[in-house]
Amino acid sequence: MTKNKSNTVNLVTGGAGFLGSHLIDRLMNKGEEVICIDNFFTGAKKNLVQWFDNSNFELIRHDITKPITLEVDRIWHLACPASPIHYQFNPIKTAKTSFLGTYNMLGMAKRVGAQFLLASTSEIYGDPEVHPQPESYRGNVNPIGIRSCYDEGKRIAETLSFDYKRSHNLDIKVARIFNTYGPRMLPNDGRVVSNLIMQGLKNESMTLYGDGKQTRSFCYVDDLINGLIKLMNANLHGPINLGNPKEITIIELAEIISKKLNISEKFIFKDLPKDDPLQRKPVIKEAKDNLNWTPLVDLDQGLEKTINYFKNL
Ligand code: NAD
Ligand code: UDP
Repeated sequence: MTKNKSNTVNLVTGGAGFLGSHLIDRLMNKGEEVICIDNFFTGAKKNLVQWFDNSNFELIRHDITKPITLEVDRIWHLACPASPIHYQFNPIKTAKTSFLGTYNMLGMAKRVGAQFLLASTSEIYGDPEVHPQPESYRGNVNPIGIRSCYDEGKRIAETLSFDYKRSHNLDIKVARIFNTYGPRMLPNDGRVVSNLIMQGLKNESMTLYGDGKQTRSFCYVDDLINGLIKLMNANLHGPINLGNPKEITIIELAEIISKKLNISEKFIFKDLPKDDPLQRKPVIKEAKDNLNWTPLVDLDQGLEKTINYFKNL
């Protein structure tokens, strides 16, 4: 495959998934070229069908644990299942995707001199003992638990990225993404926003794990994609937190969603999954100061758009 010198050629791994497909929409709308690699484990062609007739777009069914040779300028490395039920479905595969997949993509970046952005995660902080979490916090991760395939997978992916920078002077960027939600989340991916909305729409009880007092901070997808693009364009390596610092408990989220759906609150409490972090909120000073990035969509607006998406499925 030859590279069109007149235009930026982007490779988006995991581009058929939730975040990847929104990123591709943005890059395509800017008139850039995009190659998407996906094995369709949690992604779907329907997220990209709007670009199938556009000659700037190519879709490759490929598993990134296997090497591939392409000529590109920028690699946006998102491929990895992100919801607990999906990354725990085959944990060894998740670890392979995180290590071998990242290794293969960094190898490609080195060979062609491409910029490389890793979609890392707040999970690298584990169940944090420092609150809120700045980038300097090194985390509290269980290395042998049910979330470890993902948490430790992303930690080694960060390590690999920085070792490629130190050893080969690669222009790497690491984004630590906090809980993000919006249209194109899978209705059955088990994540809290999709679960509670779907349960509410079906008039079922909303499942709350533990006492529901654990916290998360939810970022709307458009804000997150803005942050990723700003990071790729900046002379910065990170790691950098990208997330909305507005922190709420899971019960509060369920109450807000019930109100928005105009239904009476019906909750059922279930056991808290092992190693489920009790609190999570990003410090985003680095992103504000260095990328001039801050989330703009509040939870109210974001949930409205997300609920409309699920209603129309
Ligand atoms: P997603 O599951 O919707 O997307 C992941 C995509 O990667 C899917 O299309 C899947 O089919 C593909 N994929 C998985 N394994 C692959 C493999 N071995 N080879 C090729 N393709 C593969 O998840 P998402 O929410 O869009 O997350 C995208 C990235 O962002 C992930 O790396 C995730 O860890 C990171 N992230 C997401 C969030 C969030 O809240 N959504 C938070 C933190 C980090
Ligand atoms: N959660 C819940 N009910 C659900 C799904 C999730 O109470 O139906 C909780 C889960 O235990 C966690 C929080 O909501 O404390 C966020 O879960 P999610 O899987 O969305 O994200 P992550 O745990 O990866 O941050």
